Amino acid sequence: MPEFLQPTSRKQAMEFLREKQDVRFLAGGTDLIIMLRARAVDCQYLMDVKRIPELNAFEYTPEGLTVGAAVTCNQILHADFLREEHKLLQESAITLANDLLRNRATLVGNICNASPGGDMLPACLVLGAHLHTCSPAGERVIPISEFFTGVKKHVLAADEMVVKITLPNKPGRGVYLKKRRIRGHDLAQVGLAGFYGEDGGLSFGIAAVGPTPVLVEGLGSFTREQLPAAKEEIIAKVMAQAKPISDVRSSKEYRLAMLRYFTGLAVDAFAAGEKVEVRA
Ligand SMILES: Cc1cc2nc3c(=O)[nH]c(=O)nc-3n(C[C@H](O)[C@H](O)[C@H](O)COP(=O)(O)OP(=O)(O)OC[C@H]3O[C@@H](n4cnc5c(N)ncnc54)[C@H](O)[C@@H]3O)c2cc1C
Repeated sequence: MPEFLQPTSRKQAMEFLREKQDVRFLAGGTDLIIMLRARAVDCQYLMDVKRIPELNAFEYTPEGLTVGAAVTCNQILHADFLREEHKLLQESAITLANDLLRNRATLVGNICNASPGGDMLPACLVLGAHLHTCSPAGERVIPISEFFTGVKKHVLAADEMVVKITLPNKPGRGVYLKKRRIRGHDLAQVGLAGFYGEDGGLSFGIAAVGPTPVLVEGLGSFTREQLPAAKEEIIAKVMAQAKPISDVRSSKEYRLAMLRYFTGLAVDAFAAGEKVEVRA
């Protein structure tokens, strides 16, 4: 059994990391505890990050929206102070697992788990999230588009703790579409977040269609009236970034078909210019 560490400050967390080897960070535990129980991962120490006050920050600052590493998906879901663009986080969070799980599951845990189908990842990609980390070696800021390196792999060092993510204020609106096998809680067969900026910029974050979630940007700038004519070209650019496999959840052909459908739905919603309920 790993020994439990419960620092109450970032300073104490760094002292533990300097003193001890083979430490894993524990947030809600909804991924990690299952992996430990299944003996799929092992460690000497489990460091609970939730008692560090800084990691519970959830507020706007001049940098935009700050979401501390201990903030749960339900805290996000029930927040009444989010700007229009950041409501995309809520659209994504409502599809993650169920109410009980969301009471524990954190946004940062979802990112650090680095599952190809993580539900919060497409939104974080299109919203331009940055991860702020610290370790005994120092601090750094990592754009989320540079974070994922493979299935359940990322650029963090073993002793590097995410303190928070920040999401810039980026006027616009987003939509999250998720296809799963059942109506209840299930991981995505395909997940797609679309974001249409007030400046006409369009971007997509796609999940479960490759070894990592992918940001599709550089699609150009469109007025609402231009979107219908550009739809097929936009779909083709999104599809070009997908490298799905067939697995227990879906065939790769089905994933591609759903990705095409979802991209078209999102473009239609943005062209309509109103809040369109397109939950799949
Ligand atoms: C029944 C069930 C249903 C689920 N359904 C979904 C679903 O529909 N969609 C979905 O996306 N996910 C789903 N999940 C997966 C899981 O709930 C999410 O990925 C969740 O957001 C993980 O957050 P956590 O706080 O529980 O992370 P933890 O389990 O605590 O940690 C996850 C990983 O991140 C690392 N980590 C955590 N915090 C930090 C930090 N501050 N710095 C560095 N590393 C850190 C941990 O070491 C671990 O490797 C489901 C899980 C279960 C058990």
